[in-house]
Amino acid sequence: MLPATVIAEFWKRVDKRGPDECWPWRGSRNQKGYGQFVHDGKAYTANRVALEIKLGRPIKPDHQSMHQCDHPWCQNDRHLEEGTNEQNAKERVDRGLYARRRKVPRAENPNAKLSDEQVAYILASPLNGPRMAAKFNVARSTINRIRKRAGQRRKR
Ligand SMILES: [Zn+2]
Repeated sequence: MLPATVIAEFWKRVDKRGPDECWPWRGSRNQKGYGQFVHDGKAYTANRVALEIKLGRPIKPDHQSMHQCDHPWCQNDRHLEEGTNEQNAKERVDRGLYARRRKVPRAENPNAKLSDEQVAYILASPLNGPRMAAKFNVARSTINRIRKRAGQRRKR
């Protein structure tokens, strides 16, 4: 089991949100976007720590902490599962081919290319659609869809 001090260091860097939301890692990230931190001279991968806290035991050899939400920075343990490397690769393919079967919905984000922060920026900015699309390098229809959705929500 992980030492309590490691668990404390982990939680200090997590932006804990609602039970179904993604919980962003506020500490440093590695090249692949996974959270990491060092404690007592030892390096830890954040989403492995998150999963080990949930499991109450170490992750099995040849297994890894798999994200159901496809966000490497997410620390919500409901979005994490223990799986083999092969399962991880397969799940990515399945989700790519059958996006609607995703177990975890992407809350406010209709386009995987845009982060929640970018969506918030788009909704707050007065820039018109074509300029916004160019800024984020997405299709104009993507910007329109985000703004339309937000408009519909407000009317309800
Ligand atoms: Zn998540």
